[in-house]
Amino acid sequence: MNNKSVNYDILLKGGRVIDPANNIDGLFDVGISGGFIANVEKSISEKDAFNTVDVTNLIVCPGLVDLHVHLGGYEGTILPDAHCLPEGTTTVVDAGGSGHRTFDEFNEKTIKPSNVNIFALLNIAGEGMVGQPEQNIHGMSVDLTSEKIKERPDLIVGIKVAHYSGPTWEPLDRAIEAATDSGVFVMIDQTPTAARPMKEMMLDHLRKNDIVTHCYALSKPMTDEKDKVKEYFFRAREKGVKFDVGHGAGSFSFRIAKAAIDQNFLPDTISTDMHRDSILNNQATMPETMTKLLALGMNLQDIIKLSTSDPAKIINHPELGTLGQTAIADIAVLKVNKGDFGMTDNGTASRVMNSNKRITCEMTIKNGKVVWDRNGLSRDDWSTTPPTNPLL
Ligand SMILES: [Zn+2]
Repeated sequence: MNNKSVNYDILLKGGRVIDPANNIDGLFDVGISGGFIANVEKSISEKDAFNTVDVTNLIVCPGLVDLHVHLGGYEGTILPDAHCLPEGTTTVVDAGGSGHRTFDEFNEKTIKPSNVNIFALLNIAGEGMVGQPEQNIHGMSVDLTSEKIKERPDLIVGIKVAHYSGPTWEPLDRAIEAATDSGVFVMIDQTPTAARPMKEMMLDHLRKNDIVTHCYALSKPMTDEKDKVKEYFFRAREKGVKFDVGHGAGSFSFRIAKAAIDQNFLPDTISTDMHRDSILNNQATMPETMTKLLALGMNLQDIIKLSTSDPAKIINHPELGTLGQTAIADIAVLKVNKGDFGMTDNGTASRVMNSNKRITCEMTIKNGKVVWDRNGLSRDDWSTTPPTNPLL
């Protein structure tokens, strides 16, 4: 660190910058000033920076955008800053924790006090994701849901439909009506039944840009008994339906994901479905979910694109998930560790898969400030620099 008054607050030097929004993948330095990305160049002098951080052999990418997490509405929710920032995740979407009746409270208690950017999918159930209301059709108001979205378009980016076990398509169709009226997408988590088959859902009900989450779940298999991706999934994709990973505690099967990736049926977005059980059972964090997809054959550039710029576009916030000049400086510094690691999947066939790589988050920068620094890369060596407090 030097103490000159200079151009950049922080300079990330010598890293491999992967910024899919700007078609960048190479060795670049990144200068951060006043909370924004000021410069991405082949070489920026240390003299121009207050604090230079050596990120050689690390990956510098936009802060990760997780399209499916749980921050409110039931007992297994996670803490936004404490659980997301250490994973390089700077923007998240709460997937249906609140409904039109509970959103304002969720906003006050969770969105406002958090450093992480939080957007919401409003549950079609007015009370949110609290069990019984997700089964109660009478609490699913098209008008009130649409009204709430129009009231807070800055925070509410879509509608969630989940866990309904009744015989009809009523919750989904109400969600689609409200979404059409308010101009947002629907994300659905629906286990198929004989009365409500996946094929009918995707081809007859969902619209372009609606999202099927848990796309590699064993409970709603994308593949048949011969491990072939079912033909109607390709038809749904052609129609514009999107497929989100939503790893979760019961929604990611190695067998299905491997077969789908081998047949080039990649997800449209990578997300965690982070909540208490998915973290405990499967470390369902962004870096770990990205690692699994890397081990299953996807390439790193695609993985980062589906974890940054693509989900940012889906929520209509392309100013996020990018390292473009003047973008807000939300950055993840990732490490691809080499060694012997075990990855786990879940559902009824929870197994382990060995991997010789594991992606972890070394550093997270939010609004231009270091908020997570696993190895103290941004700090001075204690033995050669004076302490801030002379008594220590
Ligand atoms: Zn979920």
